Amino acid sequence: MVDLAGQYQKIKPEVDAAIAEILTNTSFINGPAVKLFQNNLEKYLDVKHVIPCANGTDALQVAMMALNLQPGDEVITTSFTFIATAEVIALLQLTPVLVDVDPDTFNISPEAIEKAITAKTKAIVPVHLFGQCADMDRIMEIAEKHHLYVIEDNAQAIGADYTSKDGSTKKAGTIGHIGCTSFFPSKNLGCYGDGGAIFTNDDTLANQMRIVVNHGMTVRYYHDFVGVNSRLDSIQAAILDIKLKRLNQYADARRYAANYYNKAFAHCDKLKTPVVAPFTTHVFHQYTLVTHCVNRQKLMEHLQSKGIACAIYYPVPLHLQKAYLDPRYKKGDFPVTESLCNSVISLPIHTEFDDETLEYVTSNVLDFLKD
Ligand SMILES: *Cc1c(COP(=O)(O)O)cnc(C)c1O
Repeated sequence: MVDLAGQYQKIKPEVDAAIAEILTNTSFINGPAVKLFQNNLEKYLDVKHVIPCANGTDALQVAMMALNLQPGDEVITTSFTFIATAEVIALLQLTPVLVDVDPDTFNISPEAIEKAITAKTKAIVPVHLFGQCADMDRIMEIAEKHHLYVIEDNAQAIGADYTSKDGSTKKAGTIGHIGCTSFFPSKNLGCYGDGGAIFTNDDTLANQMRIVVNHGMTVRYYHDFVGVNSRLDSIQAAILDIKLKRLNQYADARRYAANYYNKAFAHCDKLKTPVVAPFTTHVFHQYTLVTHCVNRQKLMEHLQSKGIACAIYYPVPLHLQKAYLDPRYKKGDFPVTESLCNSVISLPIHTEFDDETLEYVTSNVLDFLKD
């Protein structure tokens, strides 16, 4: 689905030198490379605080711990996402409240959020799925009206721009109270191992999150809170700093591939190409088609037989996952999510395509759909 090897070849001298330097200076943990990347990411996002951590799942957990959410508090999130979002809610003994998504953008539906609010609701976690922002103006309005926190799960949309009704533009992940991201290798800004970060403009929350990621420690060996150990290591930070300089260029490359696909499939009535909401740019973490009257399994087998990767993000909605079965929910509760799980297919998208490869992918898809 991605070409990490091809991408590495183009930045190899810079990456190899950065890694070698850390091996020599041995500042593996909390070294200067981490601080440098943190500062550069703050500048890129135009956000006051970036708190690096070990992965995107930890970022979400630390955010919820810092907000001091208590067992039984309800957190509203989408039924159509990667499991991490619901997982940390469950691990902290909070109650995940799932809602359906918009059929065009696949992002959480503001109307559905509003209907799900109760006296126990404390936070909303919109996921900027596949690389475009959820409807943050509406979500922030709802949150303000009901005094709720908003934690953006920005693991898939780092670098996307959100434009508010008032005309101001902000980076995805810097609109709510807290933003969380992942630097998993295949993410748009990926390292060569695990990594994550949390963003906020709130000084108090930033301070609390720095304490939580560091064993709840305020003064060395004095622990005022129950915390976790969640760090980004120096080697990953150095690699991320090199890739951050190219993040916009990488997004352009992904958009080029997405446009190529869009044009090729524009007149195919069995495929619905991605719909981008007017208030956001799309950084195409995934290029996801909705199929119509297609034997999806056969299409996947056809592509695989031609050496073309493809994937289903996501085959099972959160409320039908075995570990998360809950008497509050049953099959049919989230019709849009359920229909998407049965009909979406994602094609390879990354930064290293040439037209020939894109043509190979699109012609093989269209060939299959002809008959
Ligand atoms: C990848 C991802 C995460 C988790 O990130 P990790 O670094 O793998 O822990 C969380 N939420 C979403 C939407 C993701 O895509």
